[in-house]
Amino acid sequence: MSLWQRIKQGFRSFMSGRYGADKLGMALLWSGLGFYLVGSIIGSIQGAAVLPFMGSLFTLVGFAAYVYAIYRMFSRNVDKRREENRRYENKLTRTKTKRKQAMMRHKNRKQYKYFKCPNCHSWLRLPRGTGVVTVTCSKCHNSFTQKG
Ligand SMILES: [Zn+2]
Repeated sequence: MSLWQRIKQGFRSFMSGRYGADKLGMALLWSGLGFYLVGSIIGSIQGAAVLPFMGSLFTLVGFAAYVYAIYRMFSRNVDKRREENRRYENKLTRTKTKRKQAMMRHKNRKQYKYFKCPNCHSWLRLPRGTGVVTVTCSKCHNSFTQKG
């Protein structure tokens, strides 16, 4: 067996039963790198007294994200790591949906008046120029008057 094969096999047996990489892990690595780079850029700017402190703070956050990402990869608590990743992906999907909806509201702002239900805070809309009408929320069935 060549040395490279031995290293590969050793690594595989080391990783067996451990969690490995996932989406959250990759996001932690990338944001860790981002924070680290921003931190070193801020820290190298001369002049303002607060900047070195901010720089070390960013670098520290970046480093912490890295340590956590590596800890997760080598973790044997696979169920817990899966749960973390699931929650992260759910949050990502929700953020994407929210952004998409905000873009739609912006795009249609001339045709529709958008407002939030005072009870459950979900977004509702009326065609512009409807006048004052009683609206019933499609989610919580709360009724209120709204100008369209
Ligand atoms: Zn409602």
